[in-house]
Amino acid sequence: MGLKKATACIRRNKRFLITAHTNLEGDALGSELGFYHLVRSMGKEAVIINEDSLPYGYEFMPQASVIKKFNKRLWGMKFDCFVILDCSDLKRCGDVARLASGAKTTLNIDHHISNEKFADINWVDPKASSCSELIYRLYKALDVPFDRDTATALYTGILADTGSFRYTNTTWVTHKIASELLKYGPDVSAIYRNVFENSLFSDLKLLAGILPTIKRDASGRIAWFEIENRMLKHRQLHLDLSERLLSFARSIKDIKVAVIFKENLKAKGEIRINFRSQGEVDVNRIASFFGGGGHKTASGATVKGKLKTVARKVLARIKEELK
Ligand code: AMP
Repeated sequence: MGLKKATACIRRNKRFLITAHTNLEGDALGSELGFYHLVRSMGKEAVIINEDSLPYGYEFMPQASVIKKFNKRLWGMKFDCFVILDCSDLKRCGDVARLASGAKTTLNIDHHISNEKFADINWVDPKASSCSELIYRLYKALDVPFDRDTATALYTGILADTGSFRYTNTTWVTHKIASELLKYGPDVSAIYRNVFENSLFSDLKLLAGILPTIKRDASGRIAWFEIENRMLKHRQLHLDLSERLLSFARSIKDIKVAVIFKENLKAKGEIRINFRSQGEVDVNRIASFFGGGGHKTASGATVKGKLKTVARKVLARIKEELK
């Protein structure tokens, strides 16, 4: 149903503005570039505009330079279709959301279970490993051929969101799609390295400093980090770094939920929370309770308050879920 409406919308419109959530990562970028190439192959016009600029390490993606950061001069821009990818609610694409008023129609393509179906046309499939998998399906439905660049974009998205095919969202369908994309020659080793191994030396030193601060509850089922700005020397916590911390926490025997609580560098008095679950606990439910969302095994939320107080409240909620 959603796929049919999405393909009809793409066929019908000519000029597309593509965006995704803030804190861009592999799947958001892979979906954006995949969608961009798709509509351009169909002879249409497209631009990609995000709240954030291209994150460190993703310059390798083909034509990454078409990905632009939002600026106020874009107010009043007119186009046919506002496309929001990998984003569960409009607020999560920041000020770019205001450009939607310049569009005739809005199209929301996503795989988050918490998606609010905020657009004129909504295609949401929480069973998909990634939003890039949904863009792959658009190519098939619209009969647009892949090439090395599109395969690289979509493969990167799938690889990033499945944690290199190891999270619970990996299915035989994910592998089937990846295997088809590999026929077009993306450099898997280079992609893996760029997504998972391109760490800065300074980040590794930071990681080494934060790791010993890990905490665990009495039952041994919850592991977490409470990160103050001063521990990061007042720098942003790279996505790569938080993923690594969560990965360490999650790898501990018997751990069911891993969490990072971090003071928000940009907004004082706000705590950013990243939740990861081994599968038994639905962290989307917990994140949604605190105004966030995501997936059953990976979710996020931003909560106002002090680091220790927020951590205490959230941990109590997690313990409730574990009962
Ligand atoms: P993160 O911990 O920020 O890497 O997010 C894990 C997953 O949850 C990703 O798929 C995010 O897109 C999603 N997510 C994070 N924060 C939110 C939020 N506030 N609302 C909805 N989904 C979120």
